[in-house]
Amino acid sequence: MKYRSTRGQIEGQSFESVVLEGLAADGGLYIPEQLPALPLDWQSAWSKLTFAELATELISLFVGDDISHSDVAVLVAKSYSTFNTADVTPLVSLDPSTNTHILELFHGPTFAFKDVALQFLGNLFEFFLERRNAHSPGHKITVVGATSGDTGSAAIYGLRGKKNVSVFILHPKGRVSPIQEAQMTTVLDDNVHNVSVTGTFDDCQDIVKQLFGRPAFKKEHSLGAINSINWARILAQITYYFYAYFALVRQGIKDPKPVFVVPSGNFGDILAGFYARSLGLPVGKLVIATNANDILDRFLKSGRYEKNSEQGVLATPSPAMDILVSSNFERFLWYLARDYEVPASVTNHEQREAQAGEIIAQWMDKLKSEGSFAVSPQALEAARQIFWSSNCNDAQTYDTIAKYYAREPSAYLLDPHTAVGVYVAETLRSEINRLSDSDMHTICLSTAHPAKFSEAVLKAVNENGHHLDFQSILPPPFVGLLEKPRRCFECDNSVDAVADYIVKVAAGDE
Ligand SMILES: *Cc1c(COP(=O)(O)O)cnc(C)c1O
Repeated sequence: MKYRSTRGQIEGQSFESVVLEGLAADGGLYIPEQLPALPLDWQSAWSKLTFAELATELISLFVGDDISHSDVAVLVAKSYSTFNTADVTPLVSLDPSTNTHILELFHGPTFAFKDVALQFLGNLFEFFLERRNAHSPGHKITVVGATSGDTGSAAIYGLRGKKNVSVFILHPKGRVSPIQEAQMTTVLDDNVHNVSVTGTFDDCQDIVKQLFGRPAFKKEHSLGAINSINWARILAQITYYFYAYFALVRQGIKDPKPVFVVPSGNFGDILAGFYARSLGLPVGKLVIATNANDILDRFLKSGRYEKNSEQGVLATPSPAMDILVSSNFERFLWYLARDYEVPASVTNHEQREAQAGEIIAQWMDKLKSEGSFAVSPQALEAARQIFWSSNCNDAQTYDTIAKYYAREPSAYLLDPHTAVGVYVAETLRSEINRLSDSDMHTICLSTAHPAKFSEAVLKAVNENGHHLDFQSILPPPFVGLLEKPRRCFECDNSVDAVADYIVKVAAGDE
């Protein structure tokens, strides 16, 4: 199995180098050169597998010869042993009258869906570095990332205690939720370094970008990234689409073809659904649910991918989806370009792939210089065959949380991100039902535990006459978290100050 960059300049990369590198050197994102084929009997052979066994089969298809099947099994078992339920991602019923289900992706150590990928990525880093060091010592990686909350804590929990890995996570001082700040800074492992920057999230991101832009520094410290552009994260997320499908089968539903509704920001979560579908999983539609930061929804309506440059990023009650552009969308665009933008007269497969890379590079240049680009009507039509979309504003988010909490006798407390998806599923209900004569099943992906975003959740519920308190929604590991000892380095809003700190830590002076 080899990987290519979406921008066409790099191909033939191994899984290992793609994972350790993250972003391709031409600025593109890595995708598999060919999609693997599922075993012909996957529907019967895989139907009774545990989550970890299913993950092992799916991931093994994409690693090529880089990791043996038995080593994948060990890595995967380790990654999902940290989840608090044997099912890892349980499917629960939300509304039997409309066949709507919730796929709970928040049972990992930080209670957000990013754990599914980052628990695995941490073990992968460790595995590859140890193997390299067995041949020639000195391989290490310094992960540097910026966070407004969710990614940082999931990264810290994925990388804590890993050999040859150190992690520096920058967050804007006083601008992440108290629970998220506590989650990050109470991790006291020697290899975990929280940096609280006196600035905004954008300042933090800028500092990280500048550090990666210093070639000598980057090389000296073997800087690595863990943001959602890392292919291994997408790969790990494919599992739960299959697992949800088999959960329906186990409920006695014959030949399900579910609609998946995914609260989306950077398009990483739903992209895994696209790959699951491309591998052959029966999928009715993949529904992109956005908040007010709706670039994806606008794209599917108009065919134009356009930054909302004037307003910038809008702050919403679902902050993990507050983005200006969706970084992983480039991967899907590559397939659109190959199949619908390259002229039909080009019949050679390799030429079509090469030209797709050129088209992506042009589109991304245009996005940067002009703020937008448009795809052809055929490409848009093809995208709409796979994806639907709709959005949900702040008031609708709060209302949806309140409505499902007030429901008797089966109250369900939605986090604000999941609420965006559930609202969109309701909006599209009649279209979804029209997809098939038989019962359609809708699976809303739940991306966070409500306690992670307690402020929005309590506001939604208590303004509607309930008296829910913070303590009562906390899962056990959150109880007492705010009082635990913390370690965090406070730092000026300057790239030099952060670089100095990294140098000092690496030298053992901090
Ligand atoms: C990251 C995140 C999302 C968005 O996922 P993408 O892969 O960026 O589309 C949604 N909800 C929560 C809680 C998240 O942490």
